[in-house]
Amino acid sequence: MSATKKKYPAMLSVAGSDNTGGAGIQADIKTALALGVYAATVITGVTSQNSFGVKDVALAGAESLRSQFETLFRVMTPDAIKTGMIPDPETAEIISAELKRRSSAPLVVDPVLFTTAGGSLATDPKETSLIIKSRLTPQAILVTPNIPEASYYIGEDIAHEDPEKVCRELKEIFGSHAILLKGGHSDRIDRCCDFLWDGISLKVFEAEKITTRNLHGTGCVLSSAIASSLALGMNLVQAVANAKEFISAAIARSVGFNVLEGYGPLNLKLN
Ligand code: PLP
Repeated sequence: MSATKKKYPAMLSVAGSDNTGGAGIQADIKTALALGVYAATVITGVTSQNSFGVKDVALAGAESLRSQFETLFRVMTPDAIKTGMIPDPETAEIISAELKRRSSAPLVVDPVLFTTAGGSLATDPKETSLIIKSRLTPQAILVTPNIPEASYYIGEDIAHEDPEKVCRELKEIFGSHAILLKGGHSDRIDRCCDFLWDGISLKVFEAEKITTRNLHGTGCVLSSAIASSLALGMNLVQAVANAKEFISAAIARSVGFNVLEGYGPLNLKLN
């Protein structure tokens, strides 16, 4: 790229397709677009799902994955990367190796294995989680578990534990620069608190808790909003704050947003 041309900010989403358009790759592209960031994708698999659960996950497979990384990195250097659905241990291995080899951009890992509506996104969640935590998350600037994911990785229900203690344990497990423990599943009815821990200080991001049935894809949108904000040049604290503001507005707009039957998506736009 010529030195005189200013580069447009770009993020890469390594994630799965959600045919309802509310989560996965589709949510990541819409989020990046709303925040003024170009989105490229490496698709890990194609899900068939709806508001009632996941019916099928077709894996992209090793050959396609390596080929997607190879062709993309020949022509583009992403400013930030996020990973979402990782459908099996081999995919986790390949993503870890490809990113280690090809990229030094900040990496945000959403350690998702199951969907809220029901169903696993991975064929072997236990084995997949082992590769994610040993190979992928040590490369990450940030890992973004919600309370059920944090409980799964720690091996016990942490819903009522001290957030700082949980964050310390998660940082040990994931080996990432920082942890964002998302509090949306907590039984607090008034506020939603997310906790950012970088091994030195704990920052709390608070928002009003909004009651809506449309929360499908929330984890995907938050992690891609953080990656997009990093691609725009923000530091980690600014990026989490910007993403939290973006998602809180999207959740507020999702009240009465009727595009699907049942558990629906967020309403993503900038204003
Ligand atoms: N489907 C795909 C392909 C995803 O990547 C994710 C989350 O990462 C989900 C579904 C999760 O959806 P939900 O927010 O409803 O749990």
